[in-house]
Amino acid sequence: ASLFGHVEPAPKDPILGVTEAFLADPSPDKVNVGVGAYRDDNGKPVVLECVREAERRIAGNLNMEYLPMGGSIKMIEESLKLAYGEDSDFIKDKRIAAVQALSGTGACRLFADFQRRFLPNSQICIPTPTWSNHHNIWRDAQVPQRTFTYYHPESRGLDFAGLMDDIKNAPNGSFFLLHACAHNPTGVDPTEEQWREISYQFKIKNHFPFFDMAYQGFASGDPERDAKAIRIFLEDGHQIGCAQSYAKNMGLYGQRAGCLSILCEDEMQAVSVKSQLQQIARPMYSNPPVHGALVVSIILNDPELKSLWLKEVKGMADRIIGMRKALRENLEGLGSPLSWDHITNQIGMFCYSGMTPEQVDRLTNEYHIYMTRNGRISMAGVTTGNVAYLANAIHEVTK
Ligand code: PLP
Repeated sequence: ASLFGHVEPAPKDPILGVTEAFLADPSPDKVNVGVGAYRDDNGKPVVLECVREAERRIAGNLNMEYLPMGGSIKMIEESLKLAYGEDSDFIKDKRIAAVQALSGTGACRLFADFQRRFLPNSQICIPTPTWSNHHNIWRDAQVPQRTFTYYHPESRGLDFAGLMDDIKNAPNGSFFLLHACAHNPTGVDPTEEQWREISYQFKIKNHFPFFDMAYQGFASGDPERDAKAIRIFLEDGHQIGCAQSYAKNMGLYGQRAGCLSILCEDEMQAVSVKSQLQQIARPMYSNPPVHGALVVSIILNDPELKSLWLKEVKGMADRIIGMRKALRENLEGLGSPLSWDHITNQIGMFCYSGMTPEQVDRLTNEYHIYMTRNGRISMAGVTTGNVAYLANAIHEVTK
């Protein structure tokens, strides 16, 4: 028998499969609203001007030495300011254990492995639905999962009552995965008031919130505003964990620049936790990549480049918000009797349209429009040039 004869092909990733099918379609009308990466109004990938400038400054001046095991100290410092607040006492008091991570995915995975190693009897509560990779990450880290209610299909908004019930009914001291902003795939976020109630209930139940923050700045256009949920939990005195990614908000997708942080009780605890996080990273990849981290720290550390970044991230968010409005207006203009309010109520990269898998299949087969079968539209793929075509097709298949 052959050594690897029993190895079956792995199931296709639902998102990467969409891109493959799009690329193979020769139609000039084709539209890709499947991928979770920003595109400009011509459908082209974007490198931010602040990133270009940071790269000009790096060019020729960078040695290729290893970063420390925990990654770039400067990049971590800047990341913490972004997530916890410029003047956060937790930073001053050195209460946060933080390491550079392989973007948001790597940050989640490091945390999951840490959870498995040091809290072996804990579970992770994951919202329904969520970014599908969350399930894979905690599965491979061998942390048991349970799900909690999040999305309300009828209103295409938040099932707040269901969410609160599940928070109350989870065993005391449970770990919860929360999307800090721009929930993927639904685009549905709790309001500030609802976050306060969630935080209050977490306190009563002694739950631990782990924030996956993959879209800071990308939701509202303002990174401070997008960190509001985290800040509320911090004000309420929670210990938290946080995964940060610079993939979307700096367009550094392939650079794998991110940060994992865990707010500890005191500095001594933070030192121990950080050393253990490094210990987990060591046999997996030794140390994280240098280039993206340098780009991030140069941008965030330079007032001029930082304000350019803030302007550019707002530009991306505003384009997406504008396309939500245009898509909704086009659908209404076509006389669709359905409610499309959720397109503009939802926020961030994705619109959870409510279309059925069969309707999505028709979009693909009849109109060359590519997206995941859960009805998720990547708003980043919508442009002035294709929004009318997209609206018409959606109208036709939802009649
Ligand atoms: N978390 C969420 C909710 C996401 O949507 C994504 C990207 O799609 C990520 C994490 C991780 O992305 P990356 O590993 O590229 O930072």
